[in-house]
Amino acid sequence: MEHIVIIGSGLAGYTLARELRKLDKAVPLIIITADDGRYYSKPLLSNALAQGKTADQLAGAFAPVMAEQLNAEVLAFSRVEEIDPVARSVRVAQRVIAYSKLVLALGADPVRPQLAGNAADSVLSVNDLMDYARFRERMAGARRVTILGGGLIGCEFANDLSHAGHQVDIVHPALHPLDRLLPEAAAQDLQRGLAGVGVTWHLGHTATAVNHAAAGYAVTLDDGVIIAADAVLAAIGLRPRVTLAQAAGIRAARGIQVNRLLETSAAGVYALGDCAEVAGHVLPYVMPLMAQARALAATLAGTPTEVVYPAMPVMVKTPACPVAVATVAEGLAGSWQVACGEEGVCALYQDDQQGLLGFALTGKQAGQRQALAKRLPALMP
Ligand code: FAD
Repeated sequence: MEHIVIIGSGLAGYTLARELRKLDKAVPLIIITADDGRYYSKPLLSNALAQGKTADQLAGAFAPVMAEQLNAEVLAFSRVEEIDPVARSVRVAQRVIAYSKLVLALGADPVRPQLAGNAADSVLSVNDLMDYARFRERMAGARRVTILGGGLIGCEFANDLSHAGHQVDIVHPALHPLDRLLPEAAAQDLQRGLAGVGVTWHLGHTATAVNHAAAGYAVTLDDGVIIAADAVLAAIGLRPRVTLAQAAGIRAARGIQVNRLLETSAAGVYALGDCAEVAGHVLPYVMPLMAQARALAATLAGTPTEVVYPAMPVMVKTPACPVAVATVAEGLAGSWQVACGEEGVCALYQDDQQGLLGFALTGKQAGQRQALAKRLPALMP
């Protein structure tokens, strides 16, 4: 008899389960998760502190309620240690669970910075609800917070922490924040916006060591500058979780490799969400995983359906300078046309026929993201 096992209870795993239940109310479904299995929306984690939200206030239903809602078995605090794609089973501690279809919704690990010093292990990262609970506890006594990484998540936390009354330093190796997503003028606007709410930038530098100091920590930069901090938060990137799949002989590169049907190289095994590399795209955001979940649910319910990506702009949650960015699909050539004014920056990436291929908008300009998104080509038609 057909039975489906999903590993992971993040947005990818639970969204897939919900979409599947719209199409098939009966197929036996087991969701196995290393965490507590509570439903939550991860994007809320980087702007919850200033609102005074606890982890419990951010969380939705507990695992037993999710199980009931989804007509599924949810195995919380259960880490899958091995996949056997030949026997079609997974191993959790001493238990072997058989599947006919297996879905990997394993997420991604925060990249740990390479740091010397006797307090390198004290550097925090926030990638799930339990991390957020620990982070919030640590922030209670922390006045000065140093953030390593001025990408999307680092900037969002910087804004949130400064609104919550903390003194924030950001260390970022490039000369502008979000340098991989934004053209210079838009990045500079974000930089100014965050500086305006009290954030101190250390651009063009990396941290080399974190040591205990008389009070808090001393963060040493590559030019010898030392920042005094009560807490250090790393936000230098995410790495898709691929080792469980690789150990089972399932192909992975930047992420677990799947085709547009979300099929891995092993028969009956699928992947979606932050762990997946879908036809060459690694897009660790909510909109892509929603598109993947809808397509995969249809496939699992008996109608093979390829995932389609429309243009999917991302909103950076930095109220000090809102940013909307639509990245350019790979292989499309063009150039930036940048207009700056009181309303913010409007940077359009256009081909030589003036066709819009991508954009970066800051401040009030971010308000036109929906209208502009309609003019963009699909990321994966
Ligand atoms: P996860 O939520 O990480 O879930 C992975 C699951 O797999 C977990 O349940 C974990 O326990 C389980 N697991 C892993 N290994 C095992 C194992 N061996 N056995 C059992 N279970 C296992 N995106 C946006 O689009 N907009 C935003 O504004 C935005 N803001 C963000 C803010 C922050 C702070 C962060 C960190 C991310 C943000 N993102 C945002 C990205 C977005 O949240 C993620 O793309 C999405 O939540 C990923 O969901 P996921 O289910 O793939 O992974």
